[in-house]
Amino acid sequence: METSTQVPTRRPIVTKSPVDAARAYAARVTRNLFIGGAWVSPHGEAFIDVINPDTEERLATVSAADAEDVDRAVRAARAAFEHPSWSSITPHQRTNYLLKIADLIATHADELAAISSLEMGMPFLMSRFTTNSMVDVFRYYAGWPTKMFGKTNPTDTGSFSYTVREPLGVVGAIIPWNGPILYACWKIATALATGNTVVLKPAEQAPLTCLRFAEILQEAGLPDGVVNVVTGVGEVAGAALVEHPAVAKITFTGSTAVGRQIMAAASRTLKKVSLELGGKSPVVVFPDADLDRAVATLLLGFTGNSGQACTAPTRVLVHESIYDEVAERLVKGASELKLGSPFEETTQLGPLVSRERFERVTGYISRGRTEGARVLSGGDRAGSRGYFVQPTVFGGVKDDMTIAREEIFGPVGALMRFSDESDAVLRGNDTEYGLAASIWTKDTGRAHRVARQLRAGIVWLNTVFEIDPVAPFGGYKQSGLGRELGPESIDDFTQIKTVVLRY
Ligand code: NAP
Ligand code: MG
Repeated sequence: METSTQVPTRRPIVTKSPVDAARAYAARVTRNLFIGGAWVSPHGEAFIDVINPDTEERLATVSAADAEDVDRAVRAARAAFEHPSWSSITPHQRTNYLLKIADLIATHADELAAISSLEMGMPFLMSRFTTNSMVDVFRYYAGWPTKMFGKTNPTDTGSFSYTVREPLGVVGAIIPWNGPILYACWKIATALATGNTVVLKPAEQAPLTCLRFAEILQEAGLPDGVVNVVTGVGEVAGAALVEHPAVAKITFTGSTAVGRQIMAAASRTLKKVSLELGGKSPVVVFPDADLDRAVATLLLGFTGNSGQACTAPTRVLVHESIYDEVAERLVKGASELKLGSPFEETTQLGPLVSRERFERVTGYISRGRTEGARVLSGGDRAGSRGYFVQPTVFGGVKDDMTIAREEIFGPVGALMRFSDESDAVLRGNDTEYGLAASIWTKDTGRAHRVARQLRAGIVWLNTVFEIDPVAPFGGYKQSGLGRELGPESIDDFTQIKTVVLRY
């Protein structure tokens, strides 16, 4: 295996716009993997074509790492974990790395955002907003190294007992394509703040943002091997990471089906797992809701990122007294949404990420039709090039229909009527998922009462999608295990040691 110690050129690219910078990056990206602080050639000869979902053209080709590549990355991460340049630094030095990364994300936000938009189709303005909000994520975690305390335990006078909070070791991070920079940052920032090292496996549909991010981490001066990026397919590279005995923890975001496989495979080495999985999030709209705000927000809720959001509010439960009005307004709003290239300023919906996803989503729409739901708006492909699906509103949806039960991950909302508060709670909770929920009412008593009864990891009152690094995020029921963000994420990335001294 050849090791190239040469870093791809990082001369500032003189460009006219972020999309040019992103295209220039796609053109220069190599098939090398980022291991031990160097861009190294892969062991095997398997590759992945990265497709632009807007045009269906090939953007770049990256490597599909095999188990040997993953092993090499894990060994590099383990060596970095033990190396004094990472294990013996002061908390303040760790903080400085995180702050430096935050600054570099801010500097390169437009380019990172444009690379994501190119490879997975998110409208650029949304992608830029998401990328910029990662600056706050790194700054939030930059505060943690100096604030992770142990405790003094109660003992007799002849002994002294205390706890220390320690990192786990190598963390394997496996992420989906629907927000490559977001999931990479959540996982890497937490791992670095807590003193772990990382092997990141990006999604095969969206590896370029993560590869560019690796260059940025290198620019931040992180010691070699602290973060490694191994592109590849889940069944090979992802599975190898999960099986590897030297990986202490897997932090995974993706589908519930793959989450189950990961948990089963991780049991063989008893590694820790955090799982952020799918959702089928209910929205409850009460008669006293501010309908202007509710309709505008919900529309963006289930169509934003073309519905490819784990917390998308897709099961829209509307009180029967306002059902017709809400349906009418949602249909009008949906028909006015603008589909287009992620880089058009007016675009509200980009394409779905891939042909496979396009076929799944259109499959769900036909299933909705055959099971008797009514398409009130949309329901078809848009245009003839790119993976565009019209924002789709289904009416008359019954609780047991497939489109009310399964995560579609496309711009599809299912409207249902409810009669009273307890009916709304019962039906809202009638799902194997429990990631998010949204309640619309001006009655604050009712808002909090219903929030307490809905079984979801985050409940939004008169809003959606508000996720802040200060507060924990994660799923109830089959939407996941563990929490990201907030103080709780620190627990998930550390372990506690008790030290006892007998005088
Ligand atoms: P996915 O198929 O589960 O893939 C997620 C990641 O896991 C990818 O990197 C994938 O590699 C990898 N993978 C696949 N099989 C694997 C295996 N056997 N072992 C180890 N890794 C494996 O999910 P997706 O379709 O990309 O993403 C959409 C799903 O993610 C939705 O269900 C959505 O709800 C969920 N999601 C959840 C959250 C959350 O925070 N709760 C956030 C976003 C998305 P490949 O790229 O090669 O498939
Ligand atoms: Mg997959």
